Amino acid sequence: MLYNSTQDASEVVSSAQAIAQGISKDGGLFVPQIFPKYDENTFKTLLKLDYKGRAKKVFSDFLTDFTEEEISDCVEKAYTKDKFGGNNPAPITSCNLDGTEINILELWHGPTCAFKDMALQILPHFLTKSLKKTYDGKDAVILVATSGDTGKAALEGFKDVDNTKIIVFYPVNGVSPMQKHQMNTQQGSNVNVCAIKGNFDDAQTGVKKIFTTPSVSKRLDENNMIFSSANSINWGRLLPQIVYYISAYCDMVNMGKIKFGDEINVVVPTGNFGNILASYYASLLGLPIKKFICASNSNNVLTDFIKTGIYNKNRNFYTTVSPSMDILVSSNLERLLYKLSDNSDTVTKEWMTSLKTDGKYEVSAPVKAVIKEKFYGGFCDDEQTKATINKLFAKNNYLCDTHTAVAVNVYEQYINETGDKTPSVIASTASPYKFSKAVLQAISPDTPLPESEFDMVDKLYEISKTDVPLPLADLKNKTARFSNVVEVDDMPDYVLSTLGIK
Ligand SMILES: *Cc1c(COP(=O)(O)O)cnc(C)c1O
Repeated sequence: MLYNSTQDASEVVSSAQAIAQGISKDGGLFVPQIFPKYDENTFKTLLKLDYKGRAKKVFSDFLTDFTEEEISDCVEKAYTKDKFGGNNPAPITSCNLDGTEINILELWHGPTCAFKDMALQILPHFLTKSLKKTYDGKDAVILVATSGDTGKAALEGFKDVDNTKIIVFYPVNGVSPMQKHQMNTQQGSNVNVCAIKGNFDDAQTGVKKIFTTPSVSKRLDENNMIFSSANSINWGRLLPQIVYYISAYCDMVNMGKIKFGDEINVVVPTGNFGNILASYYASLLGLPIKKFICASNSNNVLTDFIKTGIYNKNRNFYTTVSPSMDILVSSNLERLLYKLSDNSDTVTKEWMTSLKTDGKYEVSAPVKAVIKEKFYGGFCDDEQTKATINKLFAKNNYLCDTHTAVAVNVYEQYINETGDKTPSVIASTASPYKFSKAVLQAISPDTPLPESEFDMVDKLYEISKTDVPLPLADLKNKTARFSNVVEVDDMPDYVLSTLGIK
């Protein structure tokens, strides 16, 4: 299995190269040249396997330059019972929504209580093995700029992984006290966390600059190290996400909720378009998905795109109660457009260039038609998000987070509009305790808000009587290990001294 760049078809690499490199030199994203089609027998085999077994099957089809042992090693290290609180890292809970059953795929049982763990727990293992194949013997130095959640998930993923070091930069006043404490208490011998005097963009620009500063790269090279990245466009983050859709389908068959071969709809709260794209890729493997329901918050650039075929990021940016979806450029959409334009690198490049220069593009009529047929886009605002949390809790005693609530709300809109009651899987992307404030306001608007986020967690537990995930319950009692704050200009020096090679 080889991989192409979405913007230059002549750029062809192995899976190890795609993962080690992250992004193509031409700025495009790596995509598999073909998607194997699973027949009935393959699916029937998958039905009998557990999550890890299903993951190994999917990975072995896409990472053909990895041995069985290597894939098995990655999977066994990533999806442990210990880290995911059980044998199934992605369990399904069913609720009743005004007479319609909804199946909620809980993707937040990992160490940081958000769905990014599903990919970031395994990426470090893919990456170290990929680097061994492509840049033998070098240690990977991962630099991350974060506005909160990704940094913590990456730290947990890379913690104590051999031949890696990770340094996370966050804006000193740009993350919540809870997120800050989550990062500053991070355990592991190869991790480091540092605040910068600036906003998230400054942190990101600072990191990009370090990557491209020749004198810094030279110091790394002299010391047998190489920079690498863990961001969401890396193929090694997308591939693990395909697995949970296939696994969810198998679980639904085994639970008797659907018959083998039945179609399902998937509903995904979407930001960067990675999670929903993974469901689309699962359908290319043969998973019978009828509709991809793309849920957004007030930053509804994707809703408009699905309705009109015009992607236009020139619009207001809203800060919402579902912050991980506060995004105006959904990077992974590029991969869908490449596929829908019959793998045309020239067409994809044209649209992506237009996005860069004008902030917008319009896709062709045939692409519009496919998107209209397969996708449904909808959005809701903060009030509707909270009302949905309230309703689900009142009627089902089920507590969901703000991102999941956006998906549930948009799914309701879909049913009201279409009457389509095909069995559905709703991706639930975070524990409600990660967004305690908004969830508390949603289920108990009259309760005075406690001052600290830790107290909000306690209050939410008191009112909802739902379990607090262990990693969040423990946090209050942990002492911070990191407290550095540096100027943006001092970031390169900070990296070199942390690595001990200044
Ligand atoms: C990252 C994130 C999303 C958005 O996922 P994409 O793959 O970027 O579309 C949704 N919910 C939560 C909680 C997230 O952390």
